[in-house]
Parts: sequence; structure tokens; C-alpha cells
Amino acid sequence: MLPVSVGCVAHAKTADVAVVGLGGLGSAAAYWLARRGVDVVGFEQFELGHARGASHDHSRIIRRSYHTPEYVRLSAQAYDAWRAVEAESRHRMITITGGIDLFPPGAAIDHRTYTSSLSAESVPYEWIDGADVRRRWPAFAAGELISDDVMAVYSPQSGIVPAGHGTQVMQQLAVARGATLHGGTPVRAIRPVGGEVDVVTDEGVCRVGSVVVAVDAWTSRVLQQLDMEIPLAVTLEQVSYFPRPDLRDLGVGRFPVWIWMDDPSFYGFPVFGDMTAVKASEDCGGREVDPDLRTSEPVAEMEQRLQRFMQRLLGNDFGAPRSVTCLYTLTSDRDFVLDRLPGYPQISIALGAAHGFKFASWFGRTLAGLACGEPVAEELAPFSLTRPSLHAPIDRSAWMV
Ligand SMILES: Cc1cc2nc3c(=O)[nH]c(=O)nc-3n(C[C@H](O)[C@H](O)[C@H](O)COP(=O)(O)OP(=O)(O)OC[C@H]3O[C@@H](n4cnc5c(N)ncnc54)[C@H](O)[C@@H]3O)c2cc1C
Repeated sequence: MLPVSVGCVAHAKTADVAVVGLGGLGSAAAYWLARRGVDVVGFEQFELGHARGASHDHSRIIRRSYHTPEYVRLSAQAYDAWRAVEAESRHRMITITGGIDLFPPGAAIDHRTYTSSLSAESVPYEWIDGADVRRRWPAFAAGELISDDVMAVYSPQSGIVPAGHGTQVMQQLAVARGATLHGGTPVRAIRPVGGEVDVVTDEGVCRVGSVVVAVDAWTSRVLQQLDMEIPLAVTLEQVSYFPRPDLRDLGVGRFPVWIWMDDPSFYGFPVFGDMTAVKASEDCGGREVDPDLRTSEPVAEMEQRLQRFMQRLLGNDFGAPRSVTCLYTLTSDRDFVLDRLPGYPQISIALGAAHGFKFASWFGRTLAGLACGEPVAEELAPFSLTRPSLHAPIDRSAWMV
């Protein structure tokens, strides 16, 4: 059980760095900061390990296959940063399963953005047809959807990272290295004071040298306090677990992570975490919500839409699904935010744009550098807070990438 007293003393520097939000990204930042020997304090509004944000449940896809060379290149660092967590924690973080990006004829997402990006970065992949997909992964032969003219990008390095467990492991590593993490402690205000920052909670004011803000669905609330606004859409998404008596064809090693690159877009996993069912979900299928007013009740219409798709994909001998809700926070261009706040270099902001967990440990490592005053690397330019595409009005079609 982690310590509970906040111990903030007004106007006296309490810690070097404060991390606000302890989901996957914030927990990684706390870990990588503590790993540098920095005195770090973390604040989470809910209990640590809660299921009201974006970093809970069993699994997230990790992959090298992306729609731009920049993401393909960065994804190598994502794997590397998770390997560092594995080495220190002795917990497996990456389970390699292989992955297929599926492109039906006339797909809404252009496969060439993926094949050209992978080629540009010399990352191995295969371009295979539906017959080959069914031969390699017989589970797909039970459905009607993977016809011969469905093409696929097969990426052997794709796999799974554990969302809830990975977040918890990084919290444990951070505490083991001296960080103080507070659950149930909402940050009410972040106030730049000269070159430092006051972090205000119900229990006091913490003066710190710099702050990392990783609050995902609550980002707009924090930015408004700091006179900044970016268009964001917070949507209520859900994943569903489909039970079946015989799951042998759907296990790791016999079934890949998969993404249906069309509109609507769906994705799924081999059996992982919950060993009684196979998991799938729809990308960007949810409605916009207020993160504080959202329910945890699954949406029947979304579940039925996904169930119909799963029956076409894998046949219809699944039992009734069990669903878990989760929040997406989408930027206009669906690119990350990873930058210092203009005018306040002591405040860094991170946002995973609903595809950030695979990069969580890399986010943490990069945020630790920013919070310690290191320059913003050139490779972060696509994630700047001042890029014009971030300030464009929200348009769902931009999320189809
Ligand atoms: C259904 C679903 C499927 C996904 N699939 C994938 C995938 O396959 N691969 C992938 O890479 N990514 C995926 N993602 C995206 C990924 O999960 C997120 O990008 C990532 O988890 C975001 O982490 P975070 O730490 O920024 O957000 P969160 O985990 O939401 O953490 C933010 C934290 O800030 C806290 N907070 C907010 N305001 C305050 C405050 N004032 N004071 C204190 N604490 C505060 C919140 O309570 C929360 O715990 C998926 C997301 C969802 C929802």
C-alpha cells in the first residue's frame, strides 16, 4: 500500500518534479524521473489502478506498423523503453504475437501509407492475401469476411503490452526508486510561480521545480487553467470479451493481433489476460462524453455492432460478450501531444491521442528529460502544442489512420 500523507509545505520547494495524472503515461514519467534520482511526487485523483480513464484492462496492441515513417521510427524506441521496464521489474511487458492490418477492397485507410512507412524505415513485413491469412491463422476460415481479395500487412514484431498491469509495475518501480505517489488526491490547480510551479491539492500547495501533466481525458480542464485551449474529443469506447468453449485457435502463437482498416474500423487480440474469451473492439465507435459524467455501463448498440462483425470475421459460435468501457481522448489530427507549455518551460504536457499506451514507457522517458530541462528533440516536432493541425476543428475522418 503506497503512502497517503501529501506533506506539502506552502512556498517551500517540496520536490523537484510533480506528475499530475498516474495512468500509463504519468506512471511511466514518475518511474523514469525516479530512475534519474529526481525527487518526484505524483498525484492521481482516483485510487491508483482505477478503471475510469484510459490505461486499465488487460491488453493494448504494440506494433511497428504505422501510417507515417516518424511513428514507425519512434515505435522502435517504444519497444526499447518497455524492455527497460522488463529488465528492472522482471515482469514481461511485451508479448510478441505477430499482427495483421487487414485491408478489404476499397478500404477507407490506404494500405500504402503503411507499406511505404515500413519500407522507408526498413522494418520487415509481408503483403499477403486473404487465402494466406486463412492458411496461417485457421480461426479466420470460420468466418466469411476474410475473402481472397482482402489484403494484409503482416508484421512479425506486433504484440501486446499489459495496460493495467504495466501501469502498476511502473508505479511500483517508481516507488522502489524513491518516488511518492498519492492516489485519491485530485490536483485542483497548477500555478506557475517564477521558474517554479505550485501544485494545489485539497491538502496543500506543493512547490516544485517542474510539472508533468498527463491527464488524458481531463487535459482541457488543466489547459484552461493555464489559458490554453486545444480542440479535443473525449469518447466513451468499449472493449468486449467473446467467450467460446474452444479457444485453441485463438491463443497466442496461433492467432495475431489484428486491425480491420476500414470505416468502421475494428481490432482484436489473441486470448490474453482473460483466458476464457477473445477480446475485440471498435476504434472511434463511441460518442463524446464528459469524463466526470460518463457512465461505466456498456453501450448495447456498440456491442451488437461489434458482435455482428466478429461473427462475420470468426464465425458465430461465441457466447454473449462481456464489455468494459474506457475513454479515448482524440486530437484533431490524432497525433500525440508531447511538448512544453508555451511560456512555461517548467510545465510539460503529454497526450496519447487514443493510441499512446504502446509508447507509454517512451513517453515517460521523454517527459523525464523535458522535466529536467533537456531541449525538446527534433523528433518531437510532430507532437508540438503549437502545430496548426492540432488547432484545426475536430473532424472524425482525420482519425481514420
Ligand atoms: C478501448 C481502448 C483501447 C486502446 N487500445 C490501444 C492500443 O491497442 N494500443 C495503444 O497504444 N493505445 C491504445 N489505447 C490508448 C491508450 O490506452 C491511451 O493513449 C493511454 O492509456 C493514455 O494514458 P494516460 O496515462 O495518458 O491516460 P489515463 O490512463 O487516462 O491517465 C490519466 C490520469 O489522470 C488522472 N487525472 C485527471 N485529472 C487529474 C487531476 N486534476 N488530478 C489528479 N489526477 C488527474 C485521471 O484520473 C487518470 O488516471 C486504447 C485506449 C482505449 C480507451
